[in-house]
Order: sequence, then C-alpha cells, then structure tokens
Amino acid sequence: MRARSARFVTSAADPAGFPPPDLPEVAFAGRSNVGKSSLINALCGAANLAKTSRTPGRTRLLNWFRVAPPKGEPLHFVDLPGYGYARVPRAVRQGWRPLVEGYLRDRSALRGVVVLVDARRGPEEDERDLLAWLAELGVPARAVLTKADKLAKSKRKPAALAAQRALGLPAVPALFSAHTRDGADDVWRLLTSLVRQGPRQ
Ligand code: GDP
Repeated sequence: MRARSARFVTSAADPAGFPPPDLPEVAFAGRSNVGKSSLINALCGAANLAKTSRTPGRTRLLNWFRVAPPKGEPLHFVDLPGYGYARVPRAVRQGWRPLVEGYLRDRSALRGVVVLVDARRGPEEDERDLLAWLAELGVPARAVLTKADKLAKSKRKPAALAAQRALGLPAVPALFSAHTRDGADDVWRLLTSLVRQGPRQ
C-alpha cells in the first residue's frame, strides 16, 4: 500500500524553522545508506520525494513531509539526518546532537521514532546507542529492518526477532524491501500503532 498523497513541507536547521506542530509526527532515523530515503519514497509512492530536499549542504537538516496514509488521518514524516551514531567525528556529532535532541525532547507532535537497521548487518552499537537515548528521552521507538531482499527468506523472521531482543523493543521490527516493496503493509501498521498511542505525557 502506498500513501494516498505525499508532499515535501520544509527543511529546518533550528527549532525556529520547524513547521507548526499541527499533525502527528513520526520521525525516521538511521545511519547513512541504511535505505531511509528509499523507504520514505516507497511508502509515499514518489520516486524522489526524500531526495529532493537533499541538496548539498542540506543533509544535516530535518525534513518534513505531509503524508496521507493508505488509511486514516494525515501525518508528518520527519526525515532525521543520517549518521553513524557512535563513530562520527565529535565535531559532526556535536552539531547534530543538539538539533536532534532538541527536536526529540520538545516536539509536542512527535509520536515516536522509527529506527532503520540494515537487515543483513543487524543492530550494532550505533543503533543500541540511539535506542538507549530515545528511552532516556521517553520517546517511543520501533524498528524496521531494511533491504530485507538481501536476506534469504528463511532468515528474515529470525533476524527480526534477534533485533527485537538486542534492542529491547516492544514490537517485532518490520522487514522491508524498497526493491520488492515487501513489508510495506507491516511498516504502515507500525506507524499507525505509534500514532494511535497519542501524545507523550
Ligand atoms: P539513505 O542514505 O539511508 O537515505 O539510503 P538510500 O535510500 O539512499 O539507499 C542507500 C543504498 O541502498 C542505495 O544504493 C539503494 O539503492 C540501496 N537500497 C535501499 N533500499 C534497498 C532495498 O530495499 N534493497 C536493496 N537491495 N538495496 C536497497
């Protein structure tokens, strides 16, 4: 299933540039190259939506998309800047962290974060760090294993269960392939479950 409609809203480098929090938001996080743009584009049924905002120099911005899901009310997708959480140079992390941390801590519309994990690599230190950080901030989290087509079918479910255990997640991660579109419905279900939880207390 694809979104009924999707459009780019805005990019922001600081809270003054965030759009009004008038729709529930789900944010997507993952290290560079995990398949985040491909997943957003595939869910939205738009070949270049996530990349259109990715002009040079703007990769460290937060990007908002207004999405009408296959069923239910519209929401914002927020594309968080990708990076290696633990291994990036300190200077880069210092630039990233306050912006993203400010967003995660203060954004009233935020319903949760979807952490993308490469299905073949499984969760590593970066993802464990991020999940621990989200838990500290009280932000609900789910995971999606990306590039599932690269794993033999028999290995997919065990990989999802292992990732759930390793990351201490409340739900089994969805398995998704942007190439075959397998798992899109599971990702939508996971997004719906986050939105349904309502705002943080
Ligand atoms: P981002 O940096 O996280 O936004 O990653 P991209 O979406 O740009 O994808 C990074 C690379 O992984 C590209 O070469 C994609 O073609 C590839 N990729 C993304 N999704 C999939 C997938 O589901 N299956 C496979 N086999 N490759 C994928």
